Amino acid sequence: MSEIWVLVDKAQDTVRNVTYEVLSAASKLKEKNGATVCAVYVGDNSGAIEADLGKYGAEKFYKIENPALKDFNPSLYAAALSEVIKKHNPDIVLGGNTLQNQDFLPRVASRTAAGLCLDAIDVDMSSSSTLQVKRYKYSGKSIATISFHDVKPMIATVRLNAFKPTEGSASAEVVSESVDLPSDENYKVIETKIIPKERPELTEADKIVSGGRGMANGENFKVVYDLADSLGAGAGASRAAVDSGWVPYEMQVGQTGKVVSPNLYVAVGISGSVQHYAGMGSSKVIVAINKDPDAPIFQKCDYGICGDLFDVLPALTDEIKKLG
Ligand SMILES: Cc1cc2nc3c(=O)[nH]c(=O)nc-3n(C[C@H](O)[C@H](O)[C@H](O)COP(=O)(O)OP(=O)(O)OC[C@H]3O[C@@H](n4cnc5c(N)ncnc54)[C@H](O)[C@@H]3O)c2cc1C
Repeated sequence: MSEIWVLVDKAQDTVRNVTYEVLSAASKLKEKNGATVCAVYVGDNSGAIEADLGKYGAEKFYKIENPALKDFNPSLYAAALSEVIKKHNPDIVLGGNTLQNQDFLPRVASRTAAGLCLDAIDVDMSSSSTLQVKRYKYSGKSIATISFHDVKPMIATVRLNAFKPTEGSASAEVVSESVDLPSDENYKVIETKIIPKERPELTEADKIVSGGRGMANGENFKVVYDLADSLGAGAGASRAAVDSGWVPYEMQVGQTGKVVSPNLYVAVGISGSVQHYAGMGSSKVIVAINKDPDAPIFQKCDYGICGDLFDVLPALTDEIKKLG
């Protein structure tokens, strides 16, 4: 029986939502080829997560656990996963398009002579059981369909929020895999710092409010944070705002920042450059607030408010607060 593997993404003690999203993508493929959907954990201790994984469609759960995998180390993670791939020979390996997966999956592809495609917005299966992946090209101006040919496994990462997690009723059979890992002298984790977050992480947020050069300075971002907090949204920024030193780089959305795909993206004082659009163009609903009626963002949004952001944002925040 062929298998589709889904990499488990875990932050501290919780399985991140992207794991369930990618399990849904795998379940969609299973409908075409009847493969077994398997969750795969690489790390030092998965904890008891098999019930949750089963609830979202995992029928099997491979645990690749080793104390040396406590901290993320791309070469050790690649060695561990590659060894288990060679043993079980899955058809497809999927993971979220996270920085960690972008880092180590190319090494896995190289070690296992696999095909690799990053940042899929959709996955499908051809009649000949070939994985087909849709991904954006040219900063989001077109969508390419990429087919894997005569290669196994077919490895792909799936953009966060591209699939909705769907609950199933499978129960995951646990399979523990032990791996022999070489000591890695080239890469040592000295310290891991968890940065406390006031708002949802952008790549996972369901809603995002972003400010651009129109904010004029860092203090003015308060109106962006107020609107974001009233919506329970993450707060982002254009590169112009980041380069001006108003907000940190971790808030940058775009080609050289984070790629986000929320249900709601509110662009405030952002003109709508192709580089910004490359990072947020796949948002489900885009709202633009800009005082220039000719700003390109108005060609790309679902709803536009033409006005001064310093009038519009406080009024909008008040109305949203009234809705409770
Ligand atoms: C290789 C490369 C990579 C890049 N990567 C990124 C990236 O990752 N992310 C990114 O964002 N950019 C990126 N850029 C930069 C990009 O080209 C734009 O310069 C940038 O996105 C512009 O940011 P902005 O829209 O905030 O500023 P602007 O283009 O200056 O737009 C500001 C907007 O604010 C409006 N405004 C001003 N005052 C008000 C007000 N009071 N009320 C309402 N509206 C107001 C204006 O009408 C204007 O439309 C990249 C560029 C290059 C060359």
